[in-house]
Amino acid sequence: MTTERYDELVKRQRAEFKVRLLTHMRRLSWSKEAISSERQARLRELLAWAVTHSEFYRRRLAKAPPFDGFTEPDLHELPAMTKADLMENFDGIVTDSRLSLATVEDHIDSLDSDAYLLDWFRAFPTGGTSGQRGVFVYDWEEWITFLCSTTRWRLRRSLDTGSSSGGVSIFADRATHISRAMLDFLHGREAGRPTFSAAMPIAEIVERLNEMRPSSIDTYPSTLRMLVDQARIGDLCIDPAEVATCGEWLSPSLRQDVMQQWGVDIYDYWGTTEGVYAFSCGADASMHLPDDLVILEAVDERGNPVPAGQLADRVLVTNLYNKTLPLIRYEINDAMTVMAEPCSCGSSYSRIGALQGRPSQVFSYPDGTSLTSLTVPFGALERNRDVTDYQVRQTERGVDVFVYCRSQPDLEALHRDLVAALSLAGLADPEVTVRAEPELTRLDSGKLRRFVPLEVRVRR
Ligand SMILES: [Zn+2]
Repeated sequence: MTTERYDELVKRQRAEFKVRLLTHMRRLSWSKEAISSERQARLRELLAWAVTHSEFYRRRLAKAPPFDGFTEPDLHELPAMTKADLMENFDGIVTDSRLSLATVEDHIDSLDSDAYLLDWFRAFPTGGTSGQRGVFVYDWEEWITFLCSTTRWRLRRSLDTGSSSGGVSIFADRATHISRAMLDFLHGREAGRPTFSAAMPIAEIVERLNEMRPSSIDTYPSTLRMLVDQARIGDLCIDPAEVATCGEWLSPSLRQDVMQQWGVDIYDYWGTTEGVYAFSCGADASMHLPDDLVILEAVDERGNPVPAGQLADRVLVTNLYNKTLPLIRYEINDAMTVMAEPCSCGSSYSRIGALQGRPSQVFSYPDGTSLTSLTVPFGALERNRDVTDYQVRQTERGVDVFVYCRSQPDLEALHRDLVAALSLAGLADPEVTVRAEPELTRLDSGKLRRFVPLEVRVRR
């Protein structure tokens, strides 16, 4: 696609986005009733659309209750969908005959910045911390809706949405990443907000930030952890007025350290390439879900519903605005709690608490012992004040632990604690190694995979 063609299209789409954004901001004041009637109508429409236009759903929803009387509780009768289902059946799921997995993958391969596919679509891959690849597509209008949902809360709070001068984003460096496309679209490919790769060596990031003195930073918690530590030892000299994070679990100690260092409260949000973003209204650290655009079901490991107020292992997302690639009860492996009480801000939109990590990362051992990132054994690492970040890699009979520290930790004591904790969790004679590292190995996206099960390492 030529630059002229892109510029022409993006100018038109940006103008439409600005008009639509006002509508989406007004939606934030909707009542509970308005939101549920919107959900009901969109859900029925989506189901009817999916069985008419997608071969996959025609088969899958053949036994579903009639759509004209379908309500949200009926969703439980429909099968959940995994990333593997999506990728294996992509061509049968996508509802536009111009699209196939091959077309979309070819487009993604060609990307070096935000670009249109067939002058109409946007396409993104996601690996996520699970490491499994997924591919997602939005058409013209759906991409506008996506962007509205990702900007409206921050705009309402008059927070920096990246448009003000002096802000910096430190995320994936790949042009294919959705965060890159969002920034390019909102602020222009040329004059856009500076974006560094989170996978760059920390010394280089620090050097660039010292030159720039950014007024705001948007990044992953694990990157922010390194930055705040660099500021503490005096190597990083910046004074950001806003610090936002997403994409990983945010620890209370990081929130505290950032407050102490820069006097700002971290603005944490949750976002997925699948089309769900949740933002804090500012009342507290919880995040409002886009209830008018997606249905999110909190479930346990077996897919059974988890009541509000209790920690769910994962969520099932039904995207009500993407008809190009319908996602109905699509599984996202983020552990979170949907909150029961209404927010003190008065909003009718439901809320989730901070992310808890990814419990699907299970270490299974030949003797039948299973350890997950949420179980006790790794508390030894969370509790150790010298350890600011870590990576745990499963081995045949134990774990290799790599720690990133702000000061020299007592590695022997840490080793002892971990051996004791793993034994207590049922692993007989666990083999544990602990090593301090100046930097932890990151994924291509720059994200840190905190728990690496053995099969992931073998696959590589
Ligand atoms: Zn609120």
